[in-house]
Amino acid sequence: MKITRKCKTCAKEILREKSNKNVFCSRQCILFYKDPKQEKILEKSNDNDFYYLLGLIATDGYISKKENKKSQRCNISLHKNDEQVLLDIQKNYGGKIYKFYKANKNVIRWQILNQKFINYIESTGISNNKSLTLNIQKWFKTLNKQQKLSFIHGVIDGDGSISFSVVKNTFRSNIIIVGASYKFMKMLFDEMKLLNIDCTFADRTKITKTWHVTISGRKILSALPIFTVENQKLNIRRKMKNYFTCYDYYTNNKPLQNRLRYPSTQ
Ligand SMILES: [Zn+2]
Repeated sequence: MKITRKCKTCAKEILREKSNKNVFCSRQCILFYKDPKQEKILEKSNDNDFYYLLGLIATDGYISKKENKKSQRCNISLHKNDEQVLLDIQKNYGGKIYKFYKANKNVIRWQILNQKFINYIESTGISNNKSLTLNIQKWFKTLNKQQKLSFIHGVIDGDGSISFSVVKNTFRSNIIIVGASYKFMKMLFDEMKLLNIDCTFADRTKITKTWHVTISGRKILSALPIFTVENQKLNIRRKMKNYFTCYDYYTNNKPLQNRLRYPSTQ
């Protein structure tokens, strides 16, 4: 005999056989019961970390759909070296971690199935064929300054590099963001300029089919706000360390060995 029962997650009334087991109205409700952090991800959209996450999704993320299944997944895949940031993201927002650590493959993937979050991502303009069509200008304009800076930090950690070298006693440093979408890269450049970050925009489409936003040498100091956003805990430590190595060189001129000062990121 069927009776009216309440979904264990959302309390919606459903007709089910009488039993002592928990009942759920949908697959999402089963998922959220097992992984409550995942359900609450959109409630954290006032945190600056949320925008870092979206920056990372805009660059190293993708939305996939399994055949025969209605539900979409949002994934971020990174090299094993940067597994720390995905584990931190899982701690904050739930989701699953998959490690593919074999001989030639060193990939770690974070995956989330919250459909409302995925709908939100799609509404921002971060779409599946994003490398060429990414155009999120409208959404980006709605963010406040700290959220914009966090998003840019996420983009740098996704598709950017922060490097330094010493050649013939000359210290060289670069932050380079690489992207295939003109619209996205031009927006990033324009917005970084508005944030007083001293960067340049270069067309490398003839060589590598990409556009570059670069911050070179001492100009790297102007990027400090990106790496010091209030209450932002998420970052790739390896890149953070490189940034502050450069920052310290230009501000203190300390010998190389003593230049590893960067905020603790527990
Ligand atoms: Zn439910």
